[in-house]
Amino acid sequence: MYFGGYAENMAQILKDCCVPCKITSDELETLCRGERLYCQELNVNRANVNDYEVEFLCDYKRTREGEEFYFVKWKGFSESVNTWEPKRNLKCPKLMKLFHLDLDQILKRQKGRGLPKRLDKETVSILIQKAKLRQSLHQWEIHLNKTRNHPGRIFVINEVDLDGPPKHFTYINNYKVGPGIVINEMAVGCECTDCVNEPVNGCCPGASLHRMAYNDRGQVRIRPGQPIYECNSRCSCGPDCANRVVQKGIQFDLCIFKTENGRGWGVRTLQHIKKNTFVMEYVGEIITTDEAEKRGHFYDCQGSTYLFDLDYVEDVYTVDAAHLGNISHFVNHSCNPNLQVFNVFIDNIDERLPRIALFSTRAIRAGEELTFDYKMQIDPVDTESTKMDSSFSLAGLPTSPKKRIRVECRCGSESCRKYLF
Ligand SMILES: [Zn+2]
Ligand SMILES: [Zn+2]
Ligand SMILES: [Zn+2]
Repeated sequence: MYFGGYAENMAQILKDCCVPCKITSDELETLCRGERLYCQELNVNRANVNDYEVEFLCDYKRTREGEEFYFVKWKGFSESVNTWEPKRNLKCPKLMKLFHLDLDQILKRQKGRGLPKRLDKETVSILIQKAKLRQSLHQWEIHLNKTRNHPGRIFVINEVDLDGPPKHFTYINNYKVGPGIVINEMAVGCECTDCVNEPVNGCCPGASLHRMAYNDRGQVRIRPGQPIYECNSRCSCGPDCANRVVQKGIQFDLCIFKTENGRGWGVRTLQHIKKNTFVMEYVGEIITTDEAEKRGHFYDCQGSTYLFDLDYVEDVYTVDAAHLGNISHFVNHSCNPNLQVFNVFIDNIDERLPRIALFSTRAIRAGEELTFDYKMQIDPVDTESTKMDSSFSLAGLPTSPKKRIRVECRCGSESCRKYLF
C-alpha cells in the first residue's frame, strides 16, 4: 500500500498503532541483572539482584567416580552462562523431579535404556524444549486465571507433545457482541419472595409461559430444547435465589489438557459433578449468520471451526469462538457426550440471542474428560411431557444450536457416528 511516502505521514497513520515487544521477559530480566537495575514487574530488586536461582535443568552427567552433575539454566541469565553444578550443591527438588520424569519418558522411547553417564544432543534438546513448554503453559495458566471472572479455577497440562499455548486465542467470560448487532429485549423482573417454592405468576419463566427450569438445588429439571429463563437484575429476589445458576459462572476446577489420540486439547473436570448440573457457558463473538458463512468457509479450509448457530427461532446469529472464547473452546466433541446444551435467557430475552449453557447429562467423576455433541439433535416432544407441559406454549420449540465441524470423529464411544458433518 502507498501511504504518501513521507515519514511524518507514516507517523500520523501509525499514531494509534502498537506492536508487541519482540524481546522476552527472560531477556529483559537478563538485561536488568546485567546492568544492576531494579524492576518491579520483572521482580528484580535490591534483595535478589545478586541471587542465583535455578530456572530449569538442561543436561545430566555422571563421572567415573559416580558423582552426578546437572547443567543449570539460571533464572534471569541467558543460556550462554549455563553451568555444570554438582547435585549436592543444588536445592531444587521439584525441578529435579520434573527433569527426571521428562528424561525417563525420553529414555523409555529409546528402547528402555537405563540412565546413561552422558546424554546425547537430541535428548538434551527435548529436555530443554519440555522445560520451556512447561514454563509457557504455566504463564498461560496464570493469565487465564487472572482473566476469568468465575470461581472455578483453570489448570493447563501437556504431557503428550511440545505444543504450547494456542496462538490467536483470547479468553473472554461473556459474549462479545459484534458490530451492527443490537440487543433490545430486556427482561422484566419478578416480584416473588421465594421464586422456586412460591413463584408469583410463574416467576421469570412464567412471563414467557415457560416452567421453572431448576429444582431447589439448582439442578436442571426440564428437557433440553426447552428454554431456561433465569431471574435477572430487575428481580426482587436476591443472589441466593435458586433460579440463578448460569449467571454465577463456572463453579468447578477444570483442566485443559492435551489428548493422547490426536484430538488436540481437551478439558477434564478436577471435581465430581452431579447429574443435571451447570458446568460452563459456550461464549464467543456474536456475528450475523451471513458473516458466519464467510468465516465458516475459511475455517473449514483450516480443518476446524468453532461456529455455533443460534437458531432458536430463526437462524440470525452465530457464536464464533475461534479466537475469542472461554474454556468451552477446548471441549471436544463426543457422539456419547456427558454435557448437553440448553438455551438460557437472563437479562436479555431476545429469542434470537440465547446464552448457550452446558449441563451434565450424568454424574461425572473427577478426572473425566468433558464432551458435548457438536451435532446434537433434540428429540421431538414425547406425549408424556407434552401433557406435563400442556399449560405452556410449545410453539417455536427450538432446534438445537449446533457447532459446525467437518472432520472424522475420534470420540471412541460405542455409539460413534464416525463422521461429523
Ligand atoms: Zn421470581
Ligand atoms: Zn426472577
Ligand atoms: Zn428469583
